[in-house]
Amino acid sequence: MPSTKVSLKKTPIKKVASKAVSKSTATTIAKTATKVLAKVPAKTATKTVTKTATKTATKTATKATNQKEDSGLPLSVVIRRRIEAQKARFHANDNIAQFIRPGELEGLVSEVAEKMQAVLESLVIDTKSDHNTKNTSQRVAKMFVQEVFNGRYVVQPTLTKFPNVSRLNELMIVGPITIRSACSHHLCPIMGRIWIGVLPNKESALIGLSKYSRLTEWVMCRPQIQEEAVVELADMLEKKIKPIGVAIVMDADHFCMQWRGVKDRDSKMVNSVMRGAFLKDPNLRREFLSLLEKR
Ligand SMILES: [Zn+2]
Repeated sequence: MPSTKVSLKKTPIKKVASKAVSKSTATTIAKTATKVLAKVPAKTATKTVTKTATKTATKTATKATNQKEDSGLPLSVVIRRRIEAQKARFHANDNIAQFIRPGELEGLVSEVAEKMQAVLESLVIDTKSDHNTKNTSQRVAKMFVQEVFNGRYVVQPTLTKFPNVSRLNELMIVGPITIRSACSHHLCPIMGRIWIGVLPNKESALIGLSKYSRLTEWVMCRPQIQEEAVVELADMLEKKIKPIGVAIVMDADHFCMQWRGVKDRDSKMVNSVMRGAFLKDPNLRREFLSLLEKR
């Protein structure tokens, strides 16, 4: 240990010792001191090694626990297995938030980006030198997971319910609410509007007006089929508000009819769902529909 010796020469140990004893004894004392000093960093070194070893062991253990579940599988497969274990459905318009753990959405974005990059490569697009498509895979992955299909991955927005203090049971219409969705068949945009009619029960809980938009957005931010989307929304509202009746009308442009296929720019799809009183009472239905026409 030449470095320790050099530093020891500068320490007063040898000097003090040489004053009291002979030169050779002083050297022995100095040597012992060197040994003792040398042990200190050695102990620290042992500690560091032990610490690192413990850390590595903990990391390995955590990894092993994770691997028990994923064993190096893509995150999507891990999530899919959790869903299948619960025998739940995971169609394009289903919400699977309960099967996704905190921090996993970022991992899903990375996986989608990787696979989207493969799609671009299969489309024979030179993403290396074409500056426009350089980060397209990443952008598309983020757009799918965090924006346009986000309604699949995040939990239902919380709905503040108000007691129906005035015991309202008059027809209430919310809309038009702007719809942005995508068709499950082609992942082409669906842009439209929706109107919701509610006939509350005197006992019904009421939800704030903005909540109708939030809930609608949550349902629509998934690859959808218009007919199923309106039914899903009606089911949800019935469950939340327990009204006497719910009516929904959706009117939308389907880009898979305009951008591709028949390329009919004027084709629109209008759907309606009538539940409870709206189904039984033609006058109420007429009232709801006539109010929409005025908008
Ligand atoms: Zn389509």
